[in-house]
Order: sequence, then structure tokens, then C-alpha cells
Amino acid sequence: MNEKEIMALADKNIMQTYKRFPIVIAKGLGQKVWDAGGKEYLDFVAGIAVCNLGHSHPGVIAAVAEQLEKLTHVSNLYYTEPQTQLANLLVENSFADKVFFCNSGAEANEAAIKLARKYAHENLSGKKFELITMKDSFHGRTMATITATGQEKFQFGFTPLLEGFTYVPFNDVSALEAAISEKTCGIMVEPIQGEGGVNIPDAQYLTKVRQICDRHGILLIIDEVQTGIGRTGKLFAYEHSQIKPDIMTLAKALGNGFPVGAMLATDKIARSFSPGNHASTFGGNPLAMAAANAAVEIILQENILDNCRNVGDYFLSQLKKLQQKHKIIKEVRGKGLMLAAVLSIEAGDIVNKCLQKGLLINSTGGKILRFVPPLIITNQDVNSAIHILDEAMEGK
Ligand SMILES: *Cc1c(COP(=O)(O)O)cnc(C)c1O
Repeated sequence: MNEKEIMALADKNIMQTYKRFPIVIAKGLGQKVWDAGGKEYLDFVAGIAVCNLGHSHPGVIAAVAEQLEKLTHVSNLYYTEPQTQLANLLVENSFADKVFFCNSGAEANEAAIKLARKYAHENLSGKKFELITMKDSFHGRTMATITATGQEKFQFGFTPLLEGFTYVPFNDVSALEAAISEKTCGIMVEPIQGEGGVNIPDAQYLTKVRQICDRHGILLIIDEVQTGIGRTGKLFAYEHSQIKPDIMTLAKALGNGFPVGAMLATDKIARSFSPGNHASTFGGNPLAMAAANAAVEIILQENILDNCRNVGDYFLSQLKKLQQKHKIIKEVRGKGLMLAAVLSIEAGDIVNKCLQKGLLINSTGGKILRFVPPLIITNQDVNSAIHILDEAMEGK
């Protein structure tokens, strides 16, 4: 099939839940991808903060290939070594004592919501079931997670939503405090809001949220589906503050492109799940585990996190320079390699111009350009991207 045929046949047969760019991506290596016609693109989307080690990372390929020849799937009726290894790796490198494996971010958050409710049912008077989440948050597309998501555009047309959720503005400690009631069992929050537009809270925000949770004896659930696995320059974004959550969810970059999710918790909380309470056929699948073991080990062992911080700082400084030149850039912000430029115009036109010029970026919330490149990019890649952005903004 040629590119036109692939796109036409896709549109005929695949449900129209995505608005796609009119290119067919056929190959990826490192921070670059190529379309079916052979055109090269610098990829500053990375599968939406997924391919943190870049495309076709040899370490991940080798781990998956080796596992593929041994064992693909057996279910959770049995033990497997790759699942044991990944659980150990995540526990040793986080606040958590226990892990539940699943296949996506939404599923990880579903598991977190269920665990919080079960824990509250058993330990918090039985009358506490409500979760407070944030406006402009994003937690996934299942019924429970669109309910948790504090954005009406994701909920519209799907009512009735789940009971037991209430919303407060992000980065507003007094609104959060005021929203606590005798029904509240926990607070669910992204350390940096991703889909909401790379919204970075005050440095003390998470610490204050933790204090509120402690004062009221309720759970702190952090959604690190996008911020986790090195994106902000630490393995987990909560490490930038001095706090520990009670529950954390992961997905996106965990398998560097292999679909995998995880929900982590302390022993005290995790004890509320007993056999039969929750499950996933594919969760902890050996292939996914092999990919994730390799991805996490490489991020921890090579100087990926340093590179993320250094190149991220450089990228932010270059975006600030660009802002001085183009008045359509109202604000730039970022942590590590999770960055955004807030525009005064719709971002779609800039995104399309960049695509034509060989740079993949994406927009969120209409007027925000989001940059979540692989963590292996160099200052030269940043220069190339800034050059293309500069051209794309010319005359705006
Ligand atoms: C992407 C994302 C999700 C949903 O993950 P899926 O794998 O698409 O279900 C949940 N939370 C956050 C913060 C995300 O960025």
C-alpha cells in the first residue's frame, strides 16, 4: 500500500476517535522517525512522552527479542521471573512496597481508585469514598478515569459519571483544604499536569498536599503516568519534593513503547487488595516486563537523567530567547524535558508548519505547544527544533 492508500483504508475502517496528521510513520531510530515516503522528522512528541530512550533502543529490542524466544504469555496464575524483577526494580527505586501491573495509564488509575476505595472501606470508617481531583487534570478515558479527569470536554456525552469525585483548581492549597469533607478518602494529583498544558505547581505544592492528607488521614495518589520514568529529570517527579505518596501510577514511558502500566503503593495500603479483588489478563505479561526492565535499568544506569536535566534547561533557555523574538509566545515553562510554549493564537497552524519542516510537536488545550522529546536528545537537536519553530512562527 502507498501512503494515500494506507490513510484512506485506515479512515474507512478505524473508528474516528483520533484526528491524525496526514503522514504514515514507518520507521524510528533514536530521536528521529521516517514516513513511508522516506522523509525524516525530528520527533519531539516521542509517542506522547512514551519513547523516553528514543525509538528502537538496542537495549530494549534485545531484551524483548530474548524474552520473545523464551515465553510470551502465561497469565497471572503462575510466577514469572521478568515480573518479579520489574516489581523489585520499581520497589527498590521508589517509595512503594508493592506493585500491581496492568497495560495502560487509565488502567493504572482505575486500579488506584479501586485500591483507595477498598482501603477506605476497610480502614476509614466506611463512610469515606470520595476522591478530590484537580481541574485541568487528565487521568484517562475509562468511565472512572474520565470522572477523575477534571475537564468537562472529556466527560461530555458520557454521563452519568461515577459517584464520589469532586474537583478543585490545581495548585490551590486553600481550595483543596476547603473541599475536604467527612466523605473524602483521598486526593489524586499529577505532579505536573501534562494534557492540561504542562502546568507546573509551586515548589511547595506537593508538600502541602501531603500535609493535608496526613492531617486528615486520607490517601495521596499521584498520577505519574506522564511525569514518571525520567521525564522531569528524576526517575519520578515526586522526588523533586521531599514527600512520599501513598499510591502512584505509571504507564507511558515505562516500557519505552511497549504497552505497560503499573500501580504502586505502600504495604499498609496494598494490603487492602487480596486475591480476587483486582486482576488483568495481560498485566505483568513477560514481554512487557522485559521491555520495562530494560527501559528502567537503562534510564537508571546511563546518564539519561543528567542529560534530561541539562538539555531540558538548555531547551527552556532557548524557548525564552524565542519568546523575546515572537510576541505570539505568551509564556514558556518546563521541567526536565517536559516543556510548553503558551501562544496567543491557536497552536494547530504552528504544529502543521513544523510537521512540514520535519519537526514533530503536539499541541494541547488549543493554544499550547507541548514538547516531550526522547530524553536522549542533544543541544544540537534543540537548536534544530528551535530553528524550525522560529521559521514556523515567522510573520505571526
Ligand atoms: C496519558 C495519561 C493517562 C492515560 O494513559 P493511557 O495509557 O492513555 O490510558 C493518565 N494520566 C496521565 C497523567 C496521562 O498523561
